[in-house]
Amino acid sequence: MKTARLHQRFLLCSGVDTDTRKIRENSIFFALKGDNFNGNVFAEEALRKGAKYVVVDEKEYAKDSEEYILVKNSLEALQKLAIFHRNYLKIPILAITGSNGKTTTKELINAVLSKKYRTIATSGNYNNHIGVPLTLLTMDEETEFGIVEMGANHILEIEFLCTIANPDYGFITNFGKAHLEGFGGIEGVIKGKTELYKHLQERNKLIFLNIDDEIQRKHSNYKHTFSFGENPEADVQLEYKKGEKAEIIYNNTLFTSQFSGSYNARNIAAALSIGLYFKVNFDEIRQAIKDFKPGNNRSEVIPAGSNTIIMDAYNANPTSMHAALENFQNLKTNKQKIAILGDMFELGDEAATEHQLIVNHVKNSNFSETYLLGENFRNTEVQSDFIFKFKDIASLKKHIEETNYENCYFLIKGSRGMALERLLNSLKK
Ligand code: ATP
Ligand code: MG
Repeated sequence: MKTARLHQRFLLCSGVDTDTRKIRENSIFFALKGDNFNGNVFAEEALRKGAKYVVVDEKEYAKDSEEYILVKNSLEALQKLAIFHRNYLKIPILAITGSNGKTTTKELINAVLSKKYRTIATSGNYNNHIGVPLTLLTMDEETEFGIVEMGANHILEIEFLCTIANPDYGFITNFGKAHLEGFGGIEGVIKGKTELYKHLQERNKLIFLNIDDEIQRKHSNYKHTFSFGENPEADVQLEYKKGEKAEIIYNNTLFTSQFSGSYNARNIAAALSIGLYFKVNFDEIRQAIKDFKPGNNRSEVIPAGSNTIIMDAYNANPTSMHAALENFQNLKTNKQKIAILGDMFELGDEAATEHQLIVNHVKNSNFSETYLLGENFRNTEVQSDFIFKFKDIASLKKHIEETNYENCYFLIKGSRGMALERLLNSLKK
């Protein structure tokens, strides 16, 4: 079926579904395939549960009736439909990529821009070859501005996502040591992420630039940019305040937030400058940033009796881990600092070195104690009376529950797979 015709049908529907456990009345179901499932098998069930149409790509599951739409490849059909829909809507789209802080920055920007526009932003972390099309397909005639998160773990992925979303604006949060396995090193990361710049520049579109980031400066070439940072040349010149919370000063005004971490100050600065560029009211930008509540274990500050916990267990890679340690080190507090660190994943051959570098960083810190968890940390050289390795989460939990912590400041950080938020209840006891 031609994409234009598929789009006509899509417009009659309430939205796109890909999971029969969550079918919405009148939706269009796309039968996608994964390593362990074949969506075609569920097409009939989708219709039974209320879908209006099902898009299948295997003949044996396509019945001869109006509701069944047989295509060559359901995933490609979904992506083409998203491209068609994006062109049909003709709304401005801002793409966000980077190694760390994409979701946080996207949500901050959404909080700011939604003060003025009817926005649609990527929901959660739907930032790949399926998530980006699904995000575009949640936009409709009412939408005035789209904010799309793009994730990548290998070269050419961002370029591909750009051909789908065709962004008018773009921002790269940072270039860090994330997904080194797939990118083959930091040079690969830079090459992969700057595919966004290339796409924008070839079309005379605008890059939001963190002018203090040398790599961003170099790769954007200052061509079609709107910049923010401490550098006096910035379009939005601001100052990062050092302290417990992420805060900035712009135009003699303090922009405060509920985030910990100086790196989050950069995320806030991005949201501020993008808000200013799109002429959102100054006070409303300030309020949006102040009201924004960190969630999902991303840089949350959680009080627990006389103790305080920085819960950053959502994810970790060498760059964000060093940034978090640095921030914890600089934190001015009378409390004793205790870092609880879990393994960082997807580092390939670099895993041993990168974990050792973290341990070395901790050795030179002012933390009273550090607890390490995971295979990679277990294999590091520690030789310190203040750094302890735990064999599993149960033994760490037990240790925490048996210790009476008073006036302590905890930092909890590890890769998603480590799920260190499991420690929270023990710490709160
Ligand atoms: P994912 O790759 O899972 O989509 P993401 O890029 O969307 O991740 P977030 O979910 O926003 O990133 O944040 C993950 C973690 O990255 C945060 O908890 C924080 O520790 C760290 N982080 C956030 N912003 C930055 C930044 N600007 N620089 C370095 N680290 C950051
Ligand atoms: Mg994300």
